Amino acid sequence: MSSLDWMARAACIGVDPRAFYANGLHAREQVNAAKKVCNTCPVAAQCAAWAIQTGEKWGVWGGMSQQQLRQRRRRSRPGTRGKAAA
Ligand code: SF4
Repeated sequence: MSSLDWMARAACIGVDPRAFYANGLHAREQVNAAKKVCNTCPVAAQCAAWAIQTGEKWGVWGGMSQQQLRQRRRRSRPGTRGKAAA
């Protein structure tokens, strides 16, 4: 069993990947639409953990925007527990 088997159960299978990489004038709406897909996803926790572990910098993963992922990554670094994000 691969550590990436969870991807086979992703709610975003079949969804245009561009929907998860917002840019331009409607970026906020795009991010919110992507998050709605993630909110129905049975493997959102695995997806978020993977994105944090691999340093994914762009896109919506695990129901989090790239800014939220950055904050989560900072908080998960050793020695930063409980500290506010800069
Ligand atoms: S949490 Fe979102 S981006 Fe991650 S696998 Fe599920 S639907 Fe796809």
